[in-house]
Amino acid sequence: MQITPLPAFSDNYLWLIHAGQHALIVDPGDAEVVEKALHANGYQLDGILLTHHHADHTGGAAALQQHWNCPIYAPASAHPAYRALNATRVKDDDIIHFAGLPSLSCKVMTLPGHTLDHIAFYINDQHLFSGDVLFGAGCGRLFEGSPLQMYTSLQEIAALPAGTLIYPAHEYTAHNIAFALTIEPDNKDLQQRAQDTAILRQQQQPTLPTTLALEKATNPFLRCDALATQPGFHDWPPLDIFTEVRAQRNVF
Ligand SMILES: [Zn+2]
Repeated sequence: MQITPLPAFSDNYLWLIHAGQHALIVDPGDAEVVEKALHANGYQLDGILLTHHHADHTGGAAALQQHWNCPIYAPASAHPAYRALNATRVKDDDIIHFAGLPSLSCKVMTLPGHTLDHIAFYINDQHLFSGDVLFGAGCGRLFEGSPLQMYTSLQEIAALPAGTLIYPAHEYTAHNIAFALTIEPDNKDLQQRAQDTAILRQQQQPTLPTTLALEKATNPFLRCDALATQPGFHDWPPLDIFTEVRAQRNVF
């Protein structure tokens, strides 16, 4: 199994998962980008995975389904964005299989916060497609959920194995690191990541996927316990620190 980012819009990645000639796409906001990649490689599309209802994640799903007659898996919510799609609704702990990709097992995780319906796809107990929940060195904005919901969702990701590879839907890493350094200027792992990220971006390379171990060392939203010792946080409870850091990031 191989996983390739397809850049779209200004900073989205549509993640293409493929084995042999069979492919899946996560969050196809733009059908044309996906069609081009399928055509260039001679792949057929076997399925579409949607993490949440925002248009930059779902906009190409209907056209791709019509062309390939493949299943769409989407959150089990009543949001009108899904109404026009002939989608199979999935929820926490559901397991999805694809006949064309028999070695692939996809588990659904419910992770509200960015939207109330947000789900993630955890493939072969190793690859997490986190949509707009977890980003490189950051997390998604709270458009619909509460700080407690997002904090709890991030804790659920943090409980996965440290070697888990994480595939967020946006290239926000450099800006997130610049913000994280305002929270933890002395974090050596974060300083190193800033250098590594700058080199990748100079070469116009993706900074993703990331690993859970790297996020735990550098992502302030996964470090709310550790941040209690930072000036300004005065041993606050982790959820209060999360809420404050998210508020600061909103205006950074
Ligand atoms: Zn979104």
